[in-house]
Amino acid sequence: MARHTITIIPGDGVGPELSAAACRAIDATGVDISWEVHNAGLGVMEEGGNPLPPEVIESIRRNKVALKGPLTTPLGTGIRSVNVALRRELDLFALVRPLKSYPGVRSRFENIDLIVVRENTEDLYAGIEFTEGEPGTLELIALIERLKGRTVRADSGISIKPISIGATQRIFRFAFQWALDNGRHLVTAVHKANIMKDTDGLWLRVAREISQEYPQIEFNDRIVDNMSMQLVQNPEMYDVMVMPNLYGDILTDLGAGMIGGLGIAAGANFGDGVAMFEATHGSAPKYANQNKANPMAMMFSGVLMLRHIGEEDAADRLERALALVIAEGRSVTYDMKPKRDDPTAVGTSQVGDAVIEALGRSG
Ligand code: NAD
Repeated sequence: MARHTITIIPGDGVGPELSAAACRAIDATGVDISWEVHNAGLGVMEEGGNPLPPEVIESIRRNKVALKGPLTTPLGTGIRSVNVALRRELDLFALVRPLKSYPGVRSRFENIDLIVVRENTEDLYAGIEFTEGEPGTLELIALIERLKGRTVRADSGISIKPISIGATQRIFRFAFQWALDNGRHLVTAVHKANIMKDTDGLWLRVAREISQEYPQIEFNDRIVDNMSMQLVQNPEMYDVMVMPNLYGDILTDLGAGMIGGLGIAAGANFGDGVAMFEATHGSAPKYANQNKANPMAMMFSGVLMLRHIGEEDAADRLERALALVIAEGRSVTYDMKPKRDDPTAVGTSQVGDAVIEALGRSG
């Protein structure tokens, strides 16, 4: 019997090519994994089915670990996002995105080594929306006027931003524990508490309370606009940054730009006893079936997955192999070449071959 059984969702667009290359590289570390393949997303829906079949969720619940390719959100179908639905079904409340730069990447920055922990269930991302002009929206506008004495223009759409004590405690306990488990020294709470006192203000208050439970870890906070500037001016002053959902969405893309682009930005979603690993990027449909997209973000997500399942040595070796291929700069996709139209760029599966070959050399 395999040592680990892991759910793999190949994904839409470039997903299946990236998943194939990533699984090959992970298998080449020698870790004994039995992959349970489950499809979800646009492909499944077009075959007349549910984009998130119940057996996908059941498989992840059973195996407790999943690696996932990007899923396309079908437009105009009323389906908000299969990714959001997956996170919600499994209550994957924490999204961890390491921002680590490797020598050889195309970036204006060097020696970046940061972690973003993003709260995944609340904030403006909660999906509580009121469409402009609908009766419910007009009722809400009237209620706001009555309760708060504030006028909201009648032709407004409204998105609700809930931030709760419980979810904020949970994400900060997770972040401090992550810091402890991974040898990190500082946790920074990111917020806009000066303006949104009842939501971000609550976030900051709870963050301060939870920080008392972890005296071994330093704690500070930054207002999100200042954090954005600090990130590009003084990234070395930060370590683990914890953000509500929307700021996390924006700043992780900023961070991806700092470490060389979406092609290498990895991620991991955690719930209670369940973890799902996926790249930051989407399904890049324009590159589907062209053997063109960069599988490294999914492979780096695989590195995080190997660490999570206790295969530290394999994780270190895969990370070193990826770093070697990046540093050599030969067998990399178009997005990692000095110029995007570089004719020496290789394809997705060739990156897979190169990483497997480097695994043999990197010890
Ligand atoms: P995207 O990340 O798919 O692509 C944006 C651009 O980034 C691409 O056109 C390409 O130039 C580049 N890019 C992305 N990944 C790359 C890779 N691995 N290698 C090289 N270049 C890469 O974002 P989008 O176009 O906004 O979204 C496309 C679809 O993906 C949408 O349906 C969206 O909902 C979905 N999406 C899914 C996830 C997820 O599954 N977690 C995340 C983001 C977007």
